[in-house]
Amino acid sequence: MSEFSLIYQHFQNATTKHDSTILGIGDDCAISSVPPNSELVSCVDTLVAGRHFPVGTSAYAIGFKAVAVNLSDLASMGATPYAILLGVSLPKELANDTFLAEFMRGVGDICHQFGVELIGGDTTGAPVLTLSVTALGFVPKGLAIKRDGAKVGDVLCVGGQIGLASAALQEILQGKKSPLQSALDLPQPQMALGQALCGYASAMIDISDGLGQDLGHILTASGVGAVIELDKIPTHDELNQLPFEQKYQHIINGGDDYQLLFTISPNKLADFQKNYPNISVYPIGKIMKKAGVQFLQNAQAIDFKITGYQHFL
Ligand code: ADP
Ligand code: MG
Repeated sequence: MSEFSLIYQHFQNATTKHDSTILGIGDDCAISSVPPNSELVSCVDTLVAGRHFPVGTSAYAIGFKAVAVNLSDLASMGATPYAILLGVSLPKELANDTFLAEFMRGVGDICHQFGVELIGGDTTGAPVLTLSVTALGFVPKGLAIKRDGAKVGDVLCVGGQIGLASAALQEILQGKKSPLQSALDLPQPQMALGQALCGYASAMIDISDGLGQDLGHILTASGVGAVIELDKIPTHDELNQLPFEQKYQHIINGGDDYQLLFTISPNKLADFQKNYPNISVYPIGKIMKKAGVQFLQNAQAIDFKITGYQHFL
């Protein structure tokens, strides 16, 4: 199959179409008009088969997740997603209609879910399936939520359950079926929460490499420390069955959750909860002057080592 026919067959009508796209797939570049009073927010993430998703992951899940992890980065800035560019490096055995149709069904579903248009990309051969997605979004001028705004006294919050994807990955790597597989395969970017937190959160990040490590990025950028109350971190019942150490390895050091971790002043948190009664946020700790992270379990200080997600499985 020629590169040309792959492109037009599978990529052209897979996603949402925006009126603001002046020129989409088919020319050397795409052309888009930019909404007034907005800033362009952009990011790229690369996923390599066997490294970022276990061998055996469905083509659908691979397509879905490659886009989802990038939309999650936009969510963590409070941006509204607009479009993606999709770099696909395919080994010979996957350059066929069966793989591409399922892969693009995954890409299409998440793009439709968030009103995202595939405006271009690149397709090449490669020894290992590698996907590089560039995501573009917009945020009202000056309102993007960065990592460097956490202040002493801010409340540290997460937007949902933590540790599920890591628990699922461990079970799958052990050859077991996991009831949490969809948390690993089909992460849900927390777009509505991210956008709602514009003007409220002082710093934000999405949890991709583990709560502990990603919190570290906020703390370093902001020049502060934090205390975390382990028992306040929401998780799934499956993890509550595990021994303490294992459970919190998944929660603090597991990756791939794509929940939002943010800091917010106590006053703004109260305002947020009043103005958005239908959006759940979970306070799990506080920003402190002292550098580093202290852990509490039932109000007692305990030692816990932050190692972060291991990229080299
Ligand atoms: P060029 O040689 O100019 O890079 P290509 O033949 O690579 O052109 O691509 C032709 C058109 O198809 C371009 O508009 C490009 O954006 C689009 N395209 C190629 N690969 C993909 C892909 N994986 N996803 C979406 N669009 C793609
Ligand atoms: Mg090209």
